[in-house]
Amino acid sequence: MFDHTLQTPQQVRCSAAARIKFRVAKHLLRPHKEHTKNIMAKMQIKEKLALLSDAAKYDASCASSGTTKRSSADGTGLGSTEGSGICHAYAPDGRCISLLKILMTNFCIYDCAYCINRVSSQVPRARFTVEEVVHLTTEFYRRNYIEGLFLSSGIIKSPDDTMSDMVRIARSLRHDHHFRGYIHLKTIPDASPELIEEAGLLADRLSMNIELPTDAGIKAYAPEKNGDEIRRAMGRVQLRKEAAKERTHTGRRAEKFAPAGQSTQLIVGADGANDATILQSSTRLYSSYKLKRVYYSAFSPIPDSTAALPLIKPPLAREHRLYQADWLLRFYGYQADEIASAATDGMLDLEIDPKLAWALANRASFPVDVNRAGRDMLLRVPGFGTKSVARILSARRNGTLGFGDLKRIGALVNKAKPFIITRDWSPGGLTDAANLRARFAPPPEQLSLL
Ligand code: SF4
Repeated sequence: MFDHTLQTPQQVRCSAAARIKFRVAKHLLRPHKEHTKNIMAKMQIKEKLALLSDAAKYDASCASSGTTKRSSADGTGLGSTEGSGICHAYAPDGRCISLLKILMTNFCIYDCAYCINRVSSQVPRARFTVEEVVHLTTEFYRRNYIEGLFLSSGIIKSPDDTMSDMVRIARSLRHDHHFRGYIHLKTIPDASPELIEEAGLLADRLSMNIELPTDAGIKAYAPEKNGDEIRRAMGRVQLRKEAAKERTHTGRRAEKFAPAGQSTQLIVGADGANDATILQSSTRLYSSYKLKRVYYSAFSPIPDSTAALPLIKPPLAREHRLYQADWLLRFYGYQADEIASAATDGMLDLEIDPKLAWALANRASFPVDVNRAGRDMLLRVPGFGTKSVARILSARRNGTLGFGDLKRIGALVNKAKPFIITRDWSPGGLTDAANLRARFAPPPEQLSLL
C-alpha cells in the first residue's frame, strides 16, 4: 500500500533521476496502438504517469537487492536481474534504484489519516489500466531506463479487486512478455491468501506496510486496517517462502516464492511513538517474520489533515539515526533495548550515531584490546565496521596489530581512538574524558545576527 512520508535526500535524488528518465523517454509515452489511437489518450497516459509516479515517490521500501539471478542472455525473454546497469547493492537508507515506481491508482476507499490519497482527500485522482502498466514497464525496460517495477496502489472497490489487478500486471509481464526484470509488489494484507500466493510466485519481493509502530497508532490513524491481520499476512508469506525453500532443498521441483523476501515500512513521527518503540517493533518484525528490511520514513504533514497529526515534520536526521540503529540490530549484534538505553526519553541522539552513543554510555566496557577481543566486542567499537573487524581478525593471525595497521585496514581510527588499545596505543584517560561526546558532536550552530 501507499505511504505518504517525507523523502530522504537519496529519494529526492532518485525521483530527480526518474524525472530525467521520464523526460528522455517522452516518446515512449505514446500509448500502445491497440490501447489508444488519439492525442487525447496520449495526454491521459502522460498525465497519469506524472501523477502516479509522483504519488509513489514517498515509499522508501523499493530497494531491489537480494533477488535470484535471471537473464535473457539465451535469447529468450526480456531483461534480466543482473548484468550491466543492474544494481544489487543494499540501500540501508531506503534509497531507490532504477525502478519504474508507480501507483496503479491513487484512489482509495480507506481513510488513513496520514495519507494524502485517503478517500476524504481532495487530490486529483488517476488510475492506470493493467495494460498501461504492462506497456510502460516493458517499453521503459527495453530502453534500459529501468531495471524493474515497483508497483503499489490505493484500494479500489475492495482489497481483492485491487490485488487481483496487480497480480494480472505481474502475470502478464512474466508470462506474456517473459519479463525477467525485478518486480516488487506492495501487497494488500486484507486480500485473499490465494492472490498473495500468486503474487509471491510472480514477484521478486513482496511488502506490506505496517506504517505505524503500534497497534494503538494503527487503530487511531488507520481505522480500516488491522495490525493483527497485517502480521498474519506477513506470517503466511514467511511460511510460504519457507515451504518453497524446503521444496527446493528436498530435491523436488525448485520453486521461487518472493526470492528477494518481504519488507515493510514504518512512518516516523506521525503518531508520537518514540525511537525505542519503533526499534522494538522492528525487532519483532525481523524475528517473527524474517523480514528482509524495515524501512523508516519521516512523516510529512499533508493538507487538510486531522488535528491529531503533527503540523511539522520530524527532522530527517531522526530517520537517518533509525536506519543506523536498524543496521546495529541486524549486523552488529545489538538489542533494541541496549540502543534505547543510550537514548534520552526513548529518542536517539540526533548529533551522534547510535553506536557511538552506546559506547559513550557504556565506557566501562572500553578500551577494547584490538589484539585480543572477540568479534562481538570489536563490532562495538565506534569506527569499526563489519569489514574492518573481519580484516582485523584475519590480520592478527600474522602478528599483533599497531595503530597504523588499523588505518591500513580501513578503520576510522580517529573515532576508534578513545575506545581501543593496540600494540602501540593506549587511550589513557581519554576513554573517560568528560568532554568526549563534545569531540564528536557537531559544534552548535551560531545564531544569525541578522
Ligand atoms: S490504504 Fe490507507 S495508506 Fe494505503 S492508500 Fe489507502 S488511505 Fe493511503
